Amino acid sequence: MSATTPIATTNPATGETIRTFEPYDDAEIDRRLARAASAFAGWRRAPLAVRTAAVRRLGDLLDAEKERLGALMTLEMGKPIVAAIEEAAKCATACRYYADNADRLLAPRRIGEGDGAGEVVHQPLGPVLAVMPWNFPFWQVVRFLAPALTAGNVGLLKHSSNVPQCALAIEDLCARAGYPDGVFQTLLVGSAAVARILDDDRIVAATLTGSEGAGRSIAAAAGRNLKKTVLELGGSDPFVVMPSADMVKAVKTAVTARTINNGQSCIAAKRFIVHERIAGEFTTRFVEGMKALRVGDPADPETQLGPLATATLVDELHRQVTESVALGAKLLLGGKRLDRKGAFYAATVIADPPEGSPAASEELFGPAAVIFRARDIDDAIRIANDSPFGLGAAAWTADAAEARRFGLELEAGTVFINGMVASDPRFPFGGIKRSGYGRELASEGLYEFTNTKTIRAGGGITLSE
Ligand code: NAP
Repeated sequence: MSATTPIATTNPATGETIRTFEPYDDAEIDRRLARAASAFAGWRRAPLAVRTAAVRRLGDLLDAEKERLGALMTLEMGKPIVAAIEEAAKCATACRYYADNADRLLAPRRIGEGDGAGEVVHQPLGPVLAVMPWNFPFWQVVRFLAPALTAGNVGLLKHSSNVPQCALAIEDLCARAGYPDGVFQTLLVGSAAVARILDDDRIVAATLTGSEGAGRSIAAAAGRNLKKTVLELGGSDPFVVMPSADMVKAVKTAVTARTINNGQSCIAAKRFIVHERIAGEFTTRFVEGMKALRVGDPADPETQLGPLATATLVDELHRQVTESVALGAKLLLGGKRLDRKGAFYAATVIADPPEGSPAASEELFGPAAVIFRARDIDDAIRIANDSPFGLGAAAWTADAAEARRFGLELEAGTVFINGMVASDPRFPFGGIKRSGYGRELASEGLYEFTNTKTIRAGGGITLSE
């Protein structure tokens, strides 16, 4: 969204603006920063059992209210309702992961014995600014807040301007889960306010999930202030299919992996790299699968493909598809806006995009798939890695040696063999190259916003148990 995007709920299935919100003024931002700083002074010293009890209650609330929260996501950004409810339930699993494991993960690590022995502890940093995207409006926030708050930090959320009610709902859930006043707050502000907030001494670090452009400006503002950042940016994940793969499963998964969340997932499979021996069969079956998707109102549980989140996203996707086709890519399906109210784009398949065309080099954020042919495994790995991004990757093969090569040689933060890339609280998640840096989830996500401190004792002092 642009710096001037209004903070509003606009139903993407109809184009109707339902509610608008006044952005917080400087005085309100200042009050919230002050509240965060004073909340941190208490929260950092709260016993770990108090912090894990709060994150467990948050998980329980997310689960108990998943239908209501799912409906809010569907309303504000068009996610099909079944997936929206699942998203709220998945947030609960991340909360429970940290409630169950923080004790073990945050326990001091003792090294050595006697004089000079020491321990390593993880201590919270302070108020962290979280700038988040609309595409998984609960999951992206919870996967930051569950570990960060459990580690003793406090959070300030600047959510996407098109999901203000989701942002306020998360703040409300945190209050009801028992987090003390100021430990988690939402800032209803536009993106233009972010650099100024990052300049404030009360903010110690920032995390962003979003586009490359937002990543560059947040990294620049944080760099100016020497503040730590975690960046989860875009992706153009490869999905490689080798001749030994289970074709039926690979095609079915490929369709889901491309169109999950109406095609707007950072880890959606976007580039399908198929061995030339099976490329014809894969392409025919894949186009059939894309054509068969039920398009419709995201509030209808039968809908498989809903609208994009905004009309601007439709314009951008259409530009990328038409430019790629004009440069010589083959259009096999779709390639047009749907003739109905709302931000709908047809399921689209293009093949053999020329080097440098948008389909070959940019992230397509919508239901548009790109198919490439590979001569052999070396060629498949070369095409897969020929991307500025490195978020996720999938490879389909029945050959263990090939699987190992894909696992080790694909340039990505996560590689799935014979499956669809997905996040899971037990595994670290993040990217390399222009997909960003840092990790979320698992122990890595818990430690990102901590001071890993070494304490060593001599002179006859033994560090207490
Ligand atoms: P976006 O436009 O970058 O927005 C993300 C957040 O950044 C929003 O809160 C936005 O606020 C803010 N923002 C935008 N420009 C900014 C700037 N110059 N300075 C400070 N803040 C700024 O991204 P999006 O379109 O919402 O999300 C889609 C992108 O996110 C895709 O590239 C997708 O791949 C990526 N993504 C990555 C992951 C991952 O885990 N790696 C997960 C999900 C999505 P406003 O709304 O007010 O503009």
